Amino acid sequence: MTQATTHEFKAETKQVLDIVVNSLYKDKEIFVRELISNASDALEKLRRTQLTEKNILDENLALEINLSTDDSAKQLIIQDFGIGMTEEELVTNLGTIAHSGSKEFLEALKSDGEKNDALIGKFGVGFYSVFMVSDSVKVYTRTWKQEGEGFCWDSDGNGGYTIEKADGQRRGTKIVIQLKDEFDEFAKEDRIKDIVKKYSAFVQFPVSLNGEKVNTVDAIWLRSKAEIKDEEYEEFYKFQANDYEGPLMRLHFSADAPLEINSLLFVPKRNMEKMGMFRNENKVALHCRKVLIDAEPKSLFPEWLRFLRGVVDSSDIPLNVSRETMQDSELLRKLGQVLTKRFIKFLNEQAKKEEATYLEFWQEFGALIKEGVATDFTYKDDLAKLLRFQSTGTEEGKLTGLDAYIDRMVSDQKEILFLYGKNRKSIESGPYLEALQARGYEVLLLTEPVDEYVMQSLREFKEKKIISADSDELKLEKLDEEPSGESLDKKAVKKISKWIKDSLKERVSEVETGERLINSPVCVVGEDGMGGASARRIMKMMQGPDDAMPASKVKFQINPRHPIIHGLHKLIEKDETTALLVANQLLDNALASANLLDDPREMIARSYQALEKITSS
Ligand code: ADP
Ligand code: MG
Repeated sequence: MTQATTHEFKAETKQVLDIVVNSLYKDKEIFVRELISNASDALEKLRRTQLTEKNILDENLALEINLSTDDSAKQLIIQDFGIGMTEEELVTNLGTIAHSGSKEFLEALKSDGEKNDALIGKFGVGFYSVFMVSDSVKVYTRTWKQEGEGFCWDSDGNGGYTIEKADGQRRGTKIVIQLKDEFDEFAKEDRIKDIVKKYSAFVQFPVSLNGEKVNTVDAIWLRSKAEIKDEEYEEFYKFQANDYEGPLMRLHFSADAPLEINSLLFVPKRNMEKMGMFRNENKVALHCRKVLIDAEPKSLFPEWLRFLRGVVDSSDIPLNVSRETMQDSELLRKLGQVLTKRFIKFLNEQAKKEEATYLEFWQEFGALIKEGVATDFTYKDDLAKLLRFQSTGTEEGKLTGLDAYIDRMVSDQKEILFLYGKNRKSIESGPYLEALQARGYEVLLLTEPVDEYVMQSLREFKEKKIISADSDELKLEKLDEEPSGESLDKKAVKKISKWIKDSLKERVSEVETGERLINSPVCVVGEDGMGGASARRIMKMMQGPDDAMPASKVKFQINPRHPIIHGLHKLIEKDETTALLVANQLLDNALASANLLDDPREMIARSYQALEKITSS
């Protein structure tokens, strides 16, 4: 018997251990999952080592995980034939916590208060969870190298541990857990069986308990679609995505060229991001012939697809590639492109074949598709087909896409038109739709603040410009039939226009009659030197409502057939002060209709003055 060496846990390790043992996991059984996942990692590492190394200890030992329980001795044993650890590795892996990692962990704990479960694994404190339930833990281990030796690491989780040589060890690691009396449930076969079933259904190595196999190892994505039941897909998704409910959609896709790909992609039912909880992270695991290469490859999919879950398997990926070189590999980029294209195509198919499901998807994830349109030049045009909006061409509550919109366009309409407003009603009650409807032009009704930005980034669809219907880029032809109501004569129009322009010169750049107004007295149109009304609204949205933007001038259109304009024309001669009040008020109303009135206080003050005039005369 050789002498055991005694080691102290590092100060940080002690601190972390203390937190883990005393408060971190409310759910004690999680330690089983942590140890199985470590065993699975160790097997995975061995499998990868086997690809490049020749002299591996116990070469023919199966890659599997064995658990055994001893009820009377209150013991649980977890064994794997994986990569094992050398003495040095025991010290660094189990005695210390990677310096920066533990720091991050402690800081995250401070800032995160109660939500600690999410921190498991992320900061590499997984192994220590075993001390929640045990009086002592012995880790017998032997590295895969022929010339290595066996060791036993022994600790009660307080202060330190010992390491001594242990002869007769096979390759891999065996953890013997002496349970605390109050946690002897974990030495019972049935209890462990339930836990293992729950956590290891899709571990890619066989797991057995007291000699009996518990899981079925199954790379579901490599099987033929026809053989897989819906429930199997659902179970796999729940395991893979760690979701409590099934997916909303799935795409099981295989290809041989240009790359060999087997992939199983899922869209969750809910967008957690939308609930304001956290940002989604892309979690489509990358495999090569069943072997996990990277559980969360960073650059496989574009950002806006960060809600995707599932697996991608490609035999074209070199197996012995490190994660770091994988990150910026050309191959990964290509793989991501093929898959992204295919996934967008899938969404377009769904939109046609399973409209209700697609609309559910749009409801949850539409914001991310919009993000893609606005930020990802590569897929912009394909993504644009997926956009859905309300429209004057659809009933209240129904949505339309751009393709369907174009199909309905009348022959003389050149551009795709949209209007932004708080809701459908408020856009409908504004002054802009009347002239367009009189010409049979359909208008998309945008109600999300980000929509206008998306449309501005898109700019065109199928060679048709997309413009805001209040922009002066929209040129309207004269209607065949003059709208009803007698117009002021040319001279009068000239006079009132000049008067308004002079009187409101701080606020308007031009006054014109135009072809836009039928029933409303006035409106404002785009272009004010800052990129138009639409751009102004976008800037306002980005700055937030509190940052006042410098007032800018607008083009003011007046309707020479409208009684108010007739009245104003007369009032200029009779009572210029009141006329000025009316003109300002008309402009305020027009700005409000265009969602451009920054601060209503001035308008309210002015309207009181006007009311005073009326009530006192
Ligand atoms: P993580 O798994 O996140 O790295 P853990 O605390 O679970 O953190 O494990 C710490 C380290 O101990 C692992 O990274 C690994 O190097 C080593 N380890 C744990 N269990 C085993 C095992 N069964 N075989 C080999 N190494 C192991
Ligand atoms: Mg772990």
